[in-house]
Amino acid sequence: MTDVATAAPRAKPPLKVLLCSPRGFCAGVVRAIETVEQALARFGAPVYVRHEIVHNRYVVESLKRKGAVFVEELDEIPDTRAPVIFSAHGVPKSIPDEAKKRNFFALDATCPLVTKVHREAEIHHKRGRQILLIGHAGHPEVVGTIGQLPPGAITLIEELEELEHFVPRDPANLAYVTQTTLSVDDTAGIVAALKAKFPQIHGPHKEDICYATTNRQEVVKQVAPRVDAMVVVGSPNSSNTQRLKEVAERAGCSRAALVNRAADLDWSMFGGIASLGITAGASAPEVLVEEVIAAFAERYDVEVETVTTAEESMFFPLPRVLRENEAAE
Ligand code: SF4
Repeated sequence: MTDVATAAPRAKPPLKVLLCSPRGFCAGVVRAIETVEQALARFGAPVYVRHEIVHNRYVVESLKRKGAVFVEELDEIPDTRAPVIFSAHGVPKSIPDEAKKRNFFALDATCPLVTKVHREAEIHHKRGRQILLIGHAGHPEVVGTIGQLPPGAITLIEELEELEHFVPRDPANLAYVTQTTLSVDDTAGIVAALKAKFPQIHGPHKEDICYATTNRQEVVKQVAPRVDAMVVVGSPNSSNTQRLKEVAERAGCSRAALVNRAADLDWSMFGGIASLGITAGASAPEVLVEEVIAAFAERYDVEVETVTTAEESMFFPLPRVLRENEAAE
């Protein structure tokens, strides 16, 4: 019989954790969250936010506790002088128009890299080009980009196969733009097929897929083949987060899990592993990554190594009205 009082604690199995860098918050997400926080600090609660400011439940819940009120449409907001903030994903042109009609104090937290895609689409349209948008139907960024132009000006392409049936009005007058948070590899395939089929097609000078999406996918590609399992921290409705799980699986890691936070970890997936990769989507706060590492540390003797494939220094200033107030203080 074991003497419980004197039994030595059972040693935890070792676990090597490869922590992806860059991971987590990008410059557009930092700007969007700070826009809400600064608006609350300067103008007080409530501050209305159309759609989740970024796709992360933890972020949204913590802003709610500070006085942010999240709505899906402007008609859910009463007549008010409180700030009304548009999310990082961008909005169709009809939304600022409606906000103006209702005399709302609108603050636009659209990521500048999404706005860049909006401007590209507008330029193509002005030049009379039919526009293809590579992206995922229904994602708010896609809805926002399509809504920059009159109905029918933009055709959405989700999959390579859809190109087979696409007949342009004029093959010599065609352009494409993309969602910012797509799979780099899938998109490269679609763009290559587009260029092969329509050699005169106009595209972006620099990729529309943003630096943060590209960098987070690249480090996962490096780490995934070296580990027994991967954890991607982030929300299932976050496009760039979903892509990270796909990238991990395609890079050879068959046990990849996307979790909001540590409480969602399905431990049956992580039995008998000796190595684990961890990353986080662009809208997932670092505290949730730390929580996941701590959860593994309760079960394993964890040794963490950071794998860095890019350094990031991108910074986007806040919307002008918040900067002006800053200067006046
Ligand atoms: S993921 Fe890219 S496009 Fe989206 S908010 Fe971040 S930097 Fe901007």
